[in-house]
Amino acid sequence: MNESVDQLCPNCGLCCDSTLFADVELRAGDDAKRLRKLGLTIEKKTPTKLAFAQPCACFDGKLCGIYSDRPKRCRTFECGLLKKVEAGEMAADTALKKISEAKQQAEKVRELLRSLGQREEQMALTHRYAGAMSAPVDLADEMNAERHGELMLAVNNLMSVLQRDFLK
Ligand code: SF4
Ligand code: SF4
Repeated sequence: MNESVDQLCPNCGLCCDSTLFADVELRAGDDAKRLRKLGLTIEKKTPTKLAFAQPCACFDGKLCGIYSDRPKRCRTFECGLLKKVEAGEMAADTALKKISEAKQQAEKVRELLRSLGQREEQMALTHRYAGAMSAPVDLADEMNAERHGELMLAVNNLMSVLQRDFLK
């Protein structure tokens, strides 16, 4: 790991835990058979594309369990914060504060999903959100309707933070 990765990534994991991505596509040169043996569940995403779903089965909550064998997309992805810290445009401490803010916002979304009965923690965050929002809302249940509103707001806030700090 380079120094910036070492400083930021073990405190983050948002590109492995499904907060940023619902899946990761394999690229030319990735050995799907070997990656399956290492623990990734790789499936056809389209007739020509293979992918594995997030949260990644090889993510231990802090680090990648197959770091030296990880797929190409994982090797090449650098979020906006990492790029800025590597380029000397942002201090690592500032980036860590932004990571903490994004993680808190993502946890708020997960808590609201749980409170609405969406407890499939192994499903990507965006799919969990879609499932919760497509369920009928009982408007007579004020608490339930209120939580749906809070969830929409929390997801919008999370998206803003991710777009601003990670996906540029
Ligand atoms: S989102 Fe950025 S800082 Fe976080 S783990 Fe991924 S590359 Fe590292
Ligand atoms: S293979 Fe490693 S780097 Fe890639 S998504 Fe999984 S845990 Fe993250």
